[in-house]
Amino acid sequence: MRRTPPADRAYFAAFLDLRGKPGIVVGGGPVAALKAEALLRSGVRVTVVAPQLCARLAELTVLGTLRHEARRFQPGDLVGAEIAIAATDDAAVNEAVSAAARALRVPVNVADNAALSSFIMPSVVDRPPMQIAISSAGASPVVARELRMRIEASVPFAFGRLAALAGRFRAASKQRYPDPERRRRFWEEVMDGPVADMVLSGNDRAATEAIGKQLLEGKELAEGFVSLVGAGPGNPDLLTLGALRALQRASVILYDHLVAPAIVDLARRDAERIYVGKERDNHALSQQDINALLVRLARQGKRIVRLKGGDPFIFGRGGEEIDLLAAEGVAFEVVPGVTAAAGAAAYAGIPLTHREYADSCVFVTGHLRGGEVQLDWRGLVRARQTIAVYMGVGGLERICAGLIAHGLAFDLPAALVEKATLPEQRVIEATLSTLAALARRERVKPPALLIVGEVVRLRKRLAWFGDARSSTQDKHPVPDLH
Ligand code: SAH
Repeated sequence: MRRTPPADRAYFAAFLDLRGKPGIVVGGGPVAALKAEALLRSGVRVTVVAPQLCARLAELTVLGTLRHEARRFQPGDLVGAEIAIAATDDAAVNEAVSAAARALRVPVNVADNAALSSFIMPSVVDRPPMQIAISSAGASPVVARELRMRIEASVPFAFGRLAALAGRFRAASKQRYPDPERRRRFWEEVMDGPVADMVLSGNDRAATEAIGKQLLEGKELAEGFVSLVGAGPGNPDLLTLGALRALQRASVILYDHLVAPAIVDLARRDAERIYVGKERDNHALSQQDINALLVRLARQGKRIVRLKGGDPFIFGRGGEEIDLLAAEGVAFEVVPGVTAAAGAAAYAGIPLTHREYADSCVFVTGHLRGGEVQLDWRGLVRARQTIAVYMGVGGLERICAGLIAHGLAFDLPAALVEKATLPEQRVIEATLSTLAALARRERVKPPALLIVGEVVRLRKRLAWFGDARSSTQDKHPVPDLH
C-alpha cells in the first residue's frame, strides 16, 4: 500500500551542482556568514548584499573570496542568480527576497523560516567525496545537529576515501568482473575486509596495491589486518574514535586482563573474543604464542584487534607484537591510547608537569626483577621532576626507600592511584616515607600508578573525580600560586 507523507514533510532530497554558478546572500551578520561559507564550500560564486558586514564576511570580502554590494536589497539583485539566501534580522527584507525569488523561480532559503523558503539547508557531515545531509524538515535544527554530531563521531574521517578508492578502480572492476552481481560481491568483500582497514588507518598505498593485485593480476585478497589498539586505563570514555572504529570492524579481538569488559563489549557482536591473559605470573598465553597467533589469524584473512591496556607502546610490549607482523609482511596499524599515567594524573587532579613544580616527568616501571627493583636512581631523583611508576605496587616499599636513599626528601608528596579513571578509583596520598605503610593498611592492589613529586600537592585544589573515600594522610599546605 502506498502512503503519502504529509505534505509539509515532503521535501525532496537532492544534491545540487552549483560549482561556478552565481548565488546571492542577503544579510551581513554571522548567520549570513555561515550560509555564505556553506555556498562557498560548494563552489558557488557568492555576492553578499548588505549595508554592513560582520567581521567574518568583511574578511572574506577582503580576501576576494566573495563579492560585496554595500547597500540594501533590490528585487533585481536576483536576476541571473541560481540560488538565493536571506538571513537578515528584518522580516520585511526577508519576505521581499522570498517573493522576488519565487517570481524569478530562483531557489530561496530564508534563515529560520521554512514557510518563506523553497528549500531548506541540511546539517552536513563531510567525508569527501561523501556527504551526509540531515534534515528535520525544519522541525528542529537542534535535533538535526545532535544527529549530525552522532554521525560525526561514528563515521571515521577517512571513510570518504573508501569511496574515492572505489571510484579509481571502477573501470578496472568492470573489466575483471563483467557480471554486476559478482562485481558487487567483490566490492562488498573489499569494504568489509582488510583493504578498507588499510584505507581507514591512513595507508592508502597498501590498499591501492592490494586492490590492484586482485583486479589487474587476478590474485585473491586473502591478507588480514591487525590493529594494535590502546584501550586506555579502563574508563570506556577514554577510548579514541580510532579504537572504536577498529573494534567495530574486527572479526577477532585479542585482549588481556587490563582491558575493561565494557570496552571488549564494544566489539561487533559476532566477533570472536580471545583472552590472552597476562595477569602477573599467570599468563594464559606466552608472549611468543600471542605473536604467533596474531600472524596465524592474519594469514587466514581475518581483521584482528589486539587490545592492550593504556597505550600499546608504553610498558605494553606492543612493539614486540608488531615486530613479528612486520617481519612476516602482515599489514597493521597502531592506535594509541591514553596511558595510565595520563589517565591517573587527570582523574586524581595531579598535573604532571605543572610549571610551578616540574619541568619534566619520567615514566618508569617498578616491576621486580629477581625480587629487586632495578632503576636508574640517579636519573630519577632530579629536582623539579615528576616520577610516574607503573607496576609499582609489589615493590612500593623498596621504590620509596630507594628514592629517599638517593636524595629525595622523605616528606616529598607521593600518591598511589588505584584503578584510575574507573568508578572504584582510590587515591592514597602521603609522603615517600609514609606511603608504603599506608598502602599496605589500605590494601592497595594492582593496577595502581605511583606518582612522586611536588605536583601531588595540587591535588588538594584540583581533585574533581570520585568521592571522599580516598584516603589521605596529608598535611602539606598548598601554597597559593597567584
Ligand atoms: N600499556 C599500559 C601499561 C601496562 S603496564 C599503559 O600505557 O597504561 C601495567 C601497569 O599500568 C599497572 O601495573 C599499573 O601501574 C598501570 N595501570 C594500568 N591501568 C591502570 C589503572 N586503571 N589505574 C592505575 N594504574 C594502571
